[in-house]
Amino acid sequence: MSTNQWAIGIDLGGTKIEVALVNSSGIVRDRLRLPTESQQGYKAVLKRIAGTVRQLSEQNGDAAPSSIGIGVPGQISNSSGIVHYAPNLDWHEVALEADLSAMLDKHVRVCNDVKAATWGEWYFGAGKDCDDFVCIFIGTGIGGGIVSGGHMLVGCNNTAGEIGHMTIDMHGPECHCGNKGCFESLAGGWAIKRDAQAMIEANKDAGKLMLSLVGNDISKVTARTVAEAVQKKDILAGKIVDDLANAIIAGSSAIINTLGPHRLIFGGGVIEGMPQLLDQVTKGVKKNALKAATKGIEIFPAKLHNDSGVIGAAAFSLDSWNKTQNLHSKDYEKKG
Ligand SMILES: [Zn+2]
Repeated sequence: MSTNQWAIGIDLGGTKIEVALVNSSGIVRDRLRLPTESQQGYKAVLKRIAGTVRQLSEQNGDAAPSSIGIGVPGQISNSSGIVHYAPNLDWHEVALEADLSAMLDKHVRVCNDVKAATWGEWYFGAGKDCDDFVCIFIGTGIGGGIVSGGHMLVGCNNTAGEIGHMTIDMHGPECHCGNKGCFESLAGGWAIKRDAQAMIEANKDAGKLMLSLVGNDISKVTARTVAEAVQKKDILAGKIVDDLANAIIAGSSAIINTLGPHRLIFGGGVIEGMPQLLDQVTKGVKKNALKAATKGIEIFPAKLHNDSGVIGAAAFSLDSWNKTQNLHSKDYEKKG
C-alpha cells in the first residue's frame, strides 16, 4: 500500500458524527463533527453526512480520498453493507453502503462501530503486529472485537464479538437485551451508575462524598462520579470499583479461557476514567483463568482513544478498496 493514500473515516454515534480525513499510516489530517439528529430520519442524516464528506474533501483538495469507511452502532451485513438494526438511530434495514456510495460516487464500506475501533487498534494501536487479541471497550455498555489467528472474527451473521452480552451470572441483574447477568449488566457504565445510586440510597452517610460531587442530586451519580470519588479515596466508591474489577476479571477470564488471546486491549470511557483498574484485572486474570491460557498474556490500554473508530473505519475501507484494485500491501494481505 502506498503511504500517501487517503480515506475518510466516519464514526456514527447516537448523538454526534465524527468525519475524519485519515492517511494510510493512520494519521488524522482534518476532521469535522456534526450532531446526529437521528429524529430527522435516515435520509436527512445521510444527506448531511454526504455534505460533510464533500466539505472535508474540498478543504483538503490535495488529499483526495480513495474510499470512505463508516462505523455504525448496530447489526450490519458484512457482504451488502445493509444496516439491519441500529437501535440508537432507529434505523431498520437501510442500505447505507449502497446509498452513500451512490451519493458520493466513492467506494464505501460499512462496519459495526466496535469492529471499526478494533480495526483501528489492530492496524495502528495497541494490537499492532498481533494476530490474537481481544478489544474490550467499556463505556455505557460493553463492546468487543476479536482478532484470532490473524483474522477478525465475524461469525456466520457478523455478530461475533458481542462480549457485553456474555452471561457472567445467570442469576444476575436484568440486561437491556432481556437476558440476565450479562457482562455489561455487571460492568458497563449503566450498571455502575445503577449500583452506585442504589448503594448511596441505602447509606447516604457513606455516599456523602459522591453526593457532594453532584450537588446532592442522586440521579446525577454516574460512573464518572465513582471515578472521581475513588481518586479522593472514598471508601464506598472503592467498594464499587472492587466489585467492578471482579466483574471485569470474570468476563476477561472467560474470554481468555475461550479464545486464548495474546493480548487483551481495554478502552472506553470507564477504563479511561479508572486506568488503575487494569492492574487489578491483570492480577485477577492470572489468578482466575487457566494457567496455560494466561502464559504470556499482555493487558494493555487502547492507544487511539476516541480516534480508534474513525481511523479504523478509514483503514477498513482502504483495505477493501485496495483489494478491488489489486493493490495488496504485505501489511494488509494478512488481514484479508
Ligand atoms: Zn445482555
